[in-house]
Amino acid sequence: MRLEALCVADLHLHTNLSLCAPSTTTAESYLPYCEQEGIKRIGISNHLYLHLGLEYTLQSCEQIRALQNRTSVQLLFGCEMELHYGRPPMLDRQSASAFDYVLVAPSHIFNQIHHYRDFDLSTPEKVRHLTIENFKQACYLDLGVPTAICHPLYPICAPDQQEILDGMDDQMLGECYTLAARHEKSIEIHACLYRNTVTLDEEGLSPSYIRMLSIAKECGCRFHFGSDAHAPETFIGKHALLERAAQRAGIRWEDLWQPARV
Ligand SMILES: [Zn+2]
Ligand SMILES: [Zn+2]
Repeated sequence: MRLEALCVADLHLHTNLSLCAPSTTTAESYLPYCEQEGIKRIGISNHLYLHLGLEYTLQSCEQIRALQNRTSVQLLFGCEMELHYGRPPMLDRQSASAFDYVLVAPSHIFNQIHHYRDFDLSTPEKVRHLTIENFKQACYLDLGVPTAICHPLYPICAPDQQEILDGMDDQMLGECYTLAARHEKSIEIHACLYRNTVTLDEEGLSPSYIRMLSIAKECGCRFHFGSDAHAPETFIGKHALLERAAQRAGIRWEDLWQPARV
């Protein structure tokens, strides 16, 4: 048993309503593994899709509420909203009120490339600039429900990710995280810490992303954990890694976002 368990809630999980998840994944799929992972609360945060409408993502709300009667694991109903630079947000205060919380994803670079075929993201500098500017846009969102930034400053699917991170100096990061703290956006302790898209150390963690968390902590941010699992295979065994990353960044219980405390 871990002495000081920080990672007791995983608020970034997908089910088969996310088009990128296997058809077999449901909220229930994660429940048998929560106890061994030390997880007491899970948050289902499926993607929102403009072409399918809000109703599509909302359809699992009742099932998740009903599932609560059959498990001691606490369940939250959230969503993952993309934010694309120069485009209006997918949610406003009224539509966001259907969710317990919202994860804002400002760094889905693959979709940014898809949406903006004329958007020049041909160098690490340009991707870095977009990643930072879109993070700041996410900070300014006012959705009226608890809001967090998922996989912060993780340029998903962009090439040269380590080079992109290496060019983010302390001042840039300080500006981003000060803004997040001021606007009460929780910072996610995410799978990007152990995914091998960047250089990992002997603990299997990314020193670059741990440095980011340390700066976010200095800036007064709140934090939550999110494995971004799309199936149990990417859920099992990951929370000890997320917790270790938080410890190395000096994050303590009092630094956690309210929904991340159980
Ligand atoms: Zn995402
Ligand atoms: Zn996700």
